[in-house]
Amino acid sequence: MSDTIFGKIASGEMSADIVYQDDDVVAFRDISPQAPTHVLVIPRKPIPTLNDATPADAELLGKLLLAAAKVAEAEGIAEGGYRTVINCNAGAGQTVFHLHLHVLGGRPLQWPPG
Ligand code: IMP
Repeated sequence: MSDTIFGKIASGEMSADIVYQDDDVVAFRDISPQAPTHVLVIPRKPIPTLNDATPADAELLGKLLLAAAKVAEAEGIAEGGYRTVINCNAGAGQTVFHLHLHVLGGRPLQWPPG
């Protein structure tokens, strides 16, 4: 569970600005925010990348998305619009190998992302 920074945050070994948590997921503010709201939602279970998720994780993946929507609502960005992003592997910019979903909002977001 504690093999990455995010595993340590999930276990409480490392502190973070947590905005939501339950038995399955933890949501906390990104240390280097790319938008006025930039929250990371992680499963407590240490799945390294989306490629490592299995059918047994289907419910957990759904919970990640529902938690993202809950965070967006709580942050006041649900109506204005927000983006959820999962970077999968280094080529897509993944730097922490504990699955996480970015929730970004509070400013106009361009498409496509770089
Ligand atoms: P990735 O590039 O998709 O893997 O996203 C990793 C994110 O984690 C980046 O946006 C980092 O700014 C963020 N990050 C790294 N270390 C910490 C931390 O200790 N607390 C909160 N966010 C972090």
